[in-house]
Amino acid sequence: SEWSGDAIRRRFLDFYAARGHKILPSSSLVPDDPTVFLTIAGMLQFKPIFLGKEPRRVPCATTSQKCIRTNDIENVGRTSRHQTFFEMLGNFSFGDYFKKDAIKWAWELTTKEYGLPPERLWISVFEDDDEAFSIWLNEVGVPKERIKRMGEDDNFWTSGATGPCGPCSEMYYDFHPERGSLNADLNDDSRFIEFYNLVFMQYNKNDDGSLEPLKQKNIDTGMGLERMARILQNVPNNYETDLIFPIMEKAASMALVSYGKADDAMRTNLKVIGDHMRAVVYLISDGVIPSNIGRGYVVRRLIRRVVRTGRLIGMRGDGHENSEGAFLPSLAETVISLSSEIDPDVESRRKSILGELLREELRFVQTLGRGEKLLDELLDEALGSAGGDKPCLSGKDVFLLYDTYGFPIEITAEIASERDVTIDMKGFDIEMENQRKQSQAAHNVIKLSVGNETEIVKSIPDTEFLGYESLFATAVVKA
Ligand code: ATP
Ligand code: MG
Ligand code: MG
Ligand code: MG
Repeated sequence: SEWSGDAIRRRFLDFYAARGHKILPSSSLVPDDPTVFLTIAGMLQFKPIFLGKEPRRVPCATTSQKCIRTNDIENVGRTSRHQTFFEMLGNFSFGDYFKKDAIKWAWELTTKEYGLPPERLWISVFEDDDEAFSIWLNEVGVPKERIKRMGEDDNFWTSGATGPCGPCSEMYYDFHPERGSLNADLNDDSRFIEFYNLVFMQYNKNDDGSLEPLKQKNIDTGMGLERMARILQNVPNNYETDLIFPIMEKAASMALVSYGKADDAMRTNLKVIGDHMRAVVYLISDGVIPSNIGRGYVVRRLIRRVVRTGRLIGMRGDGHENSEGAFLPSLAETVISLSSEIDPDVESRRKSILGELLREELRFVQTLGRGEKLLDELLDEALGSAGGDKPCLSGKDVFLLYDTYGFPIEITAEIASERDVTIDMKGFDIEMENQRKQSQAAHNVIKLSVGNETEIVKSIPDTEFLGYESLFATAVVKA
């Protein structure tokens, strides 16, 4: 297709630049805002302007923002449309234009520039937003069967528990128009994909949940670049676009397999690797170093998932300089080779990115080597002693792997489930609690809550790692 990911991004920015928007760079994945964990949307760098805490420098702007959504981690490779790392194209009005222009431009861009057939486009509006409904119907000319009123879950956008927010209107693409408009459900992802969200940002949500009108009415939008690429490149999912697929092909070649001939499980594994490799390269480039707390734990978890998945499909290092058989540095090279239009700074940080990845991979392989053998034996035992019951790994065993071998629970669970064994999380929690009580006596234990998108990120210097619970739960550190 003529539409490379780079061309789609460029066209979006040029379209809005021609309509008075200033093209601004993506901000970091680490927001300049202690209440936000990671950058999940294009609007974050403009939050102070929307809230009236900072003056606007331009009336309107357009960006392609790097985003990470850890809440979509379980969707990676399972749905066709979610990654943890993606780019959000956005146009923003700071008290300048509002609903009518935002809607008309979104339509013009989508149908005239990208050339999507109008009869394939469906619209959602917030249930009581008659104004947006009428603009789509009367001024744009979308037939009313294809404009759906939807509730708060889909059509009231907030960036977190508090902050700027408002009703939104979204554009969907229909892959199966032959199914007709009767009973069409925009959330049916075998038929539709949401690709462009127009937020009419006119409120601030307070701590108590109340909505307070902002001084100005703003526009905040987001179009998923990989989703538009998926539509225009006519491929079955975001992963097979030119933005991600080369990384998966690299991984496939290092595992001596072919994506084209692979079964679904193998394809899912390659998608996980393709997505997570982008996430970790851009996170490290933005200064997030693998660790056991906060954002660093997100990177660590993603890296470990790539290493585990890569080993599962038989990936081997391909002799990358000084890589000691590790395969992350080579994969990262492919990610970096695709980075120039996404983030021009990544190339210049190549060396430190590769170094971090190599260090973390080798460290984890050591851990895995020790734990995997033991886990295999424990699983044999669990399978042998299950009798008629569903085989289950005891909380004691899971705790032993975790505490003594540094085995993340998610990985124990993943490996166990490959042999149809569940893990006893209740029993594990009891073991955890016991250890907590014991170490409380001996050490000064600090409980640290991490991973909540809206919670203030705390960090404690000189901590010694004790272990993991889960990505979004509690990490225990010894002071
Ligand atoms: P979905 O309902 O598909 O999960 P969303 O409603 O959570 O998407 P928004 O918060 O409205 O997404 O974000 C704006 C746009 O960003 C979406 O319309 C989509 O194009 C894109 N987007 C959101 N999440 C992802 C993701 N995990 N991977 C790729 N693109 C995404
Ligand atoms: Mg979502
Ligand atoms: Mg949605
Ligand atoms: Mg949405």
